[in-house]
Amino acid sequence: MENNTINPKNYTIEELKTYLAVHREKAYRASQIMHWVYHSKSMGRDDFINVPLSVRELLDEDLCSLTLVREQVSETDGTRKWAFATKDGHIIESVFMKYKHGNSICISSQAGCRMGCSFCASTLDGLSRNLTPAEMMDQILLGMEISESPISHVVIMGTGEPFDNYDNLQTFLLNATDEKGLGLSRRHITVSTCGILDQMNAFVEEFPQVGLAISLHAPNDDIRKKVMPIALRYSIADICTWSQKYFKVTGRRITYEYALIHGVNDSLACAAELARLFRGRNVHVNLIPLNEVDETGLKGSNRKVAETFLKVLDDAGVQATIRRELGSDISAACGQLRLDAMQESNG
Ligand code: SAH
Repeated sequence: MENNTINPKNYTIEELKTYLAVHREKAYRASQIMHWVYHSKSMGRDDFINVPLSVRELLDEDLCSLTLVREQVSETDGTRKWAFATKDGHIIESVFMKYKHGNSICISSQAGCRMGCSFCASTLDGLSRNLTPAEMMDQILLGMEISESPISHVVIMGTGEPFDNYDNLQTFLLNATDEKGLGLSRRHITVSTCGILDQMNAFVEEFPQVGLAISLHAPNDDIRKKVMPIALRYSIADICTWSQKYFKVTGRRITYEYALIHGVNDSLACAAELARLFRGRNVHVNLIPLNEVDETGLKGSNRKVAETFLKVLDDAGVQATIRRELGSDISAACGQLRLDAMQESNG
């Protein structure tokens, strides 16, 4: 019966084997299914010619969980922004970027977000729902198909808070890095979080080689609480202690993201306070020019302010860079394409 079928992208290979065993099918069929899904990038079970009908009928007929609804392509650097619709009509956004080291995609982990950061477009309507592992994966699989290019690097930095959807993130990461799955290098994947430390402990144990970026956006708790409600739960001191342990266990340094917001967190005093916090620590600070979202009323700092801020960190020996803006000719703010597509589909 159709409603008893599954999308294999929502399960790990071990889970697929169990599912097959329950239906008295051979375990090695799981590898064959994985091959079709991830290596032949097939979106329909009827393509699986070496898999018997009895097994194919255990799978969804259509394995593609997303449809492309909008695309913007940068004429200057090949960056592409995509708005995809889920089967139940939610809109999510992904961004494809070309770098010297390979092509990278920024994917979403939730439709909407409930973290409530004051500057962010993705949280304006709250959380609609978690994305399934298949929906996270299809952003990459469809991304490769649409761009007709391989993708070697993934950042989970689109809409949503990945650690608010940890079980699905975990399945997705296992399939993205499994040799029988997409086979990406764990070191080529980075998860960006507002810092939900409790959920992050399990992640470090399971995926020590996967990169981690923490959105900080403030040098102290008072300012952070004004822009990020998660700061009410975890202090910057907690984050720093956690990060030091992370470095000891994994040998990887954390990237801190810091969007420069005019008059909020971009003063010289803020720069000096951030420099004191990180002096002598093995971290990287990524200063992000704020993408202005009309609804928030917040403005980005100008280039000169950003450069002065960077110099204060540099002078203190704190590793920092100002993020290069790719696709600036399609400079819809993070999440703005999704908002536009949502408004369009609501008429
Ligand atoms: N929830 C996760 C991942 C999604 S947001 C997180 O908080 O990290 C990805 C990054 O974009 C975060 O650093 C976030 O703070 C930042 N961001 C969100 N809105 C932005 C905006 N308008 N301008 C610049 N950066 C923004």
